[in-house]
Amino acid sequence: GQCITHCPVGALRERDDTEKVWDAIADEKKTVVVQVAPAVRTSWGEQIGLKPEEATIGKIMDSLKRMGVDYVFDTVFSADLTIMEEANEFVQRFTSGELKDRPMFTSCCPGWVRFAKSQYPHLVKYLSTAKSPQEMFGAVMKTYFAEKIGKSPEEIYTVSVMPCVAKKAEREKELFYNEYAGHGVDTVITTRELVKMMRSAHISPDTLQDIESDSPMHDGTGAGVIFGATGGVMEAALRTAYAIITGENPEADAFKAVRSSGFNANDGVMEAELNINGIKVRTAVVSGLGNTRNLLDKMEKGEVKYDFVEVMACPGGCVGGGGQPIHDGEELAFERGKTLYALDKNADLRFSHENPDIQKLYDEYMEKPMSHKAHMLLHTEH
Ligand code: SF4
Repeated sequence: GQCITHCPVGALRERDDTEKVWDAIADEKKTVVVQVAPAVRTSWGEQIGLKPEEATIGKIMDSLKRMGVDYVFDTVFSADLTIMEEANEFVQRFTSGELKDRPMFTSCCPGWVRFAKSQYPHLVKYLSTAKSPQEMFGAVMKTYFAEKIGKSPEEIYTVSVMPCVAKKAEREKELFYNEYAGHGVDTVITTRELVKMMRSAHISPDTLQDIESDSPMHDGTGAGVIFGATGGVMEAALRTAYAIITGENPEADAFKAVRSSGFNANDGVMEAELNINGIKVRTAVVSGLGNTRNLLDKMEKGEVKYDFVEVMACPGGCVGGGGQPIHDGEELAFERGKTLYALDKNADLRFSHENPDIQKLYDEYMEKPMSHKAHMLLHTEH
């Protein structure tokens, strides 16, 4: 999404999907269900003059309800779900020896997945099969949640608010199948389009209140929140992988070595060799596609070797995404990332596997991570 951030012509040509959302809200036969990605809370206030500490996720939820949306959810919930699937998948692939030549790569960034497919097709089989949080949430909304509120999947209209332009294409690619085949997500709007909707609804920011997201997909952990910053997916996955391997939690900050100390630090690459119960796990985190190419070329030449690699196409991760507010010549990704790490530090729960609503989803519906049902709804072929 970077070219859109930096190219005014691209910005003019950007697709606008806000009318689709207004149409769905006006359609009495549709129940409109919205999810809001972690990175959106770090930036939406910039466009309307709210300070980071005033521009909370709760106020985004309030604005959506005032626009007429029926249910609002935080993508942090499904980031925890992605971690459950991806951490279990990693432990399984790692311990089976499947990763002896190449690492497992994260796959929640569609900019990276598209790049891998076109430039490094032989690495595609090493991508995690776990769907991204946006896609997992879409599937959960149209199955588990639809059942809970007594609706059919067709009656549920799902909208994602994302920091990302590539998420619009990801939505078109992903289908899920149960008794119904369809897209998990019906429309994706960016942070900028959200602010546009607030303006056209004449919502004045200083009247917004903090409201909670709805149930039964209410809870989210600090591990899910940091998904929006480079290194966050890796750190969250390692917290849960450690618990799977050892049966107990690590210190919540045990894996902070994978956090970026600035989005340009070390050419956008953070490497860490971790020790989990005597097992050595070599990790790398990279953001920006130029940096990614450098890292992969070194890997292909055998100069570096990893077990698990996180890739985000945008420098700094989704906080620096192409759907975020644009400020001439200013790169705010690092500042926005700090907001997410502060939210994680202050969160009551910091491990995805301790999210009570995720535990309930498995108990009542998905059975367990990597179950047949989880494969059908939460995983994909690349
Ligand atoms: Fe989208 Fe950029 Fe995040 Fe990738 S890193 S998911 S392209 S915002």
